[in-house]
Amino acid sequence: MQSPRLVLPPKTAAAPSPAAVACWSCGGPTPADSFFCVTCASVQPPGTADHFRRLGLKRSFDVDRADLERRYFDLQRRLHPDRFATRTGREKALSQAQAVSLNEAYETLADPLDRAVYLLHLAGMDVLAEGCNQIADPVILMEAMEMREALAGAQSGAQVELFAANVAADIEECVGDLAVAFRKNDFDEAAKLTTRLRYLRKVIEDSRARHSSRG
Ligand SMILES: [Zn+2]
Repeated sequence: MQSPRLVLPPKTAAAPSPAAVACWSCGGPTPADSFFCVTCASVQPPGTADHFRRLGLKRSFDVDRADLERRYFDLQRRLHPDRFATRTGREKALSQAQAVSLNEAYETLADPLDRAVYLLHLAGMDVLAEGCNQIADPVILMEAMEMREALAGAQSGAQVELFAANVAADIEECVGDLAVAFRKNDFDEAAKLTTRLRYLRKVIEDSRARHSSRG
């Protein structure tokens, strides 16, 4: 079932910010976190906006991929280095800094696993710290071990392929469950599902590697 679509206000108002800041170039007021000054159109510093705000999206696991891409490519085009060839060094540097922040925001929000990890981080839960592969939930741990066994026991390329197809279906289901958990603000459940999604991704990578190594 499709979630209800929001009617988006114009781009400059998509992430309303009560704070206005002084533009570094013209001194005029411009909304905090905007890419460009509303008065003189100079690029502004990236600031501290989160990835959602940066792309003018509300903070949610439900991201419309087409909408995300439209926003990303539009901003990327407006930050293209060619547009700043004749500008000051400061504006060139700012446009590059904005482009880096924009890419990071897009890559994080485009991927369901990265998006889930990021949303949990914003909620104060760093469940998947770097280098931490521990699975605390016994049900999820059991499933992970059974999957490892099943993959190890797959004899033929066709069996590995079937295994991978099943895991792909599990991944789709897990992403759907994550969306439900986030809609309910059930961050504990979302954290469990994020751990599950992470190992499902790892298992499917491993099965693809097995399959291609068998030719
Ligand atoms: Zn300005």
